Amino acid sequence: MMRPELLAPAGNLEKLETAFSFGADAVYIGNWIFGLRKFADNFTLRQMEMGINLANRLGKKVYVVLNGFAHDEDLEALRPYLIELNRIQPHGFIISDAGVASLSQELTTVPLHVSTQASVTNAYDCAMWKELGATRIVLAREVTIDQIREIKRQVDIELEVFVHGSMCASYSGKCVISNYTAARDSNRGGCIQSCRHTYELINEENGETETTHIMNAKDLMTLNLVPDLIDAGVESFKIEGRMKSPMYVASVVTAYRDAIESALENRSPDANAETELEKISNRGYFTGGLDDRPAGESINYATNGHSAGVKYLGSIKSVNEQMGSVILSRGILSVGEEIEIQSPTGIYAYTIGEMRDMAGRSLEKCVPSQMICLPDLRNVPENTILRKPIVEVVTENA
Ligand code: SF4
Repeated sequence: MMRPELLAPAGNLEKLETAFSFGADAVYIGNWIFGLRKFADNFTLRQMEMGINLANRLGKKVYVVLNGFAHDEDLEALRPYLIELNRIQPHGFIISDAGVASLSQELTTVPLHVSTQASVTNAYDCAMWKELGATRIVLAREVTIDQIREIKRQVDIELEVFVHGSMCASYSGKCVISNYTAARDSNRGGCIQSCRHTYELINEENGETETTHIMNAKDLMTLNLVPDLIDAGVESFKIEGRMKSPMYVASVVTAYRDAIESALENRSPDANAETELEKISNRGYFTGGLDDRPAGESINYATNGHSAGVKYLGSIKSVNEQMGSVILSRGILSVGEEIEIQSPTGIYAYTIGEMRDMAGRSLEKCVPSQMICLPDLRNVPENTILRKPIVEVVTENA
């Protein structure tokens, strides 16, 4: 069996480092220009360069997302951006617009990956993109494993498939609900997730109303399909979620790393992996139509909230002799509190025994975004996650 790439989302440098530490082979990153996440965390060019340099040192890869659909007025900014990107040489561009693809080939030597937004669902489409110079196709989310197998049989090109993360009610990301409801173009990074909103259905015959989340797709999870996807010839397993936390990146990468290695070694995967994925923020899971056509059970009608079993409290930035672990806190932490340490080698219970600020002063408690040290937490690698079990449902949209 061929060893596929595990490709993780990275909304910023912290998430990129987390993804690599927990076992991702590659990450995809974006900038505010053409990255389809206009209102999210993003990378500056300098940060992209730092991420690419780190990946090169580790033998990993960084792909840059350029998958918005460009209008003529966008091209003015795109040209100099492409020239700068060519200078820092990411390992691939993820592009959906044929015009942007053509321009990237004119101005750069960066390999072309065709984005899922291009909705490639068949072998002819793959062959056409190959002729145009593409080296990889991120298949449309609408294809099944059997169709992937057939495409692979007919066309010799790398195939990338989404294996985990948010789904939406659009056709492989092509959607105009936000355009009409909020004057924000989903296809140029402006999606406001209108499909997750609460809608009121009115029965025209009797006037009865029902409040529901009629388009709120559950999240994709394919741990059980990993052996079939490898067997079908998928070269890259892609995780969705550039806007999600480092804890999400760590948990999902850990679960799929184990699933891939288990499949390759013909052994049973970690029995706890699915439970861990249930603990991170999700809208309920389904297999996204890879094994069967999605139907009613793919929608979470009841709530547009996320359920989660753990809360992210921060990441370890460095560990040193003098200070112990240096942590950027993302929550309130108190001395005596029982939390969990999630490292690439496992999850451990830990009680905070001592806390200091960066000047070495003793603290009883810290606030979110504060840099702190835990002097007695030493035998852990950088990017280890601090988290706490919770029972909670967080509502996302009103
Ligand atoms: S509004 Fe919903 S269906 Fe449309 S692109 Fe955004 S997330 Fe997808």
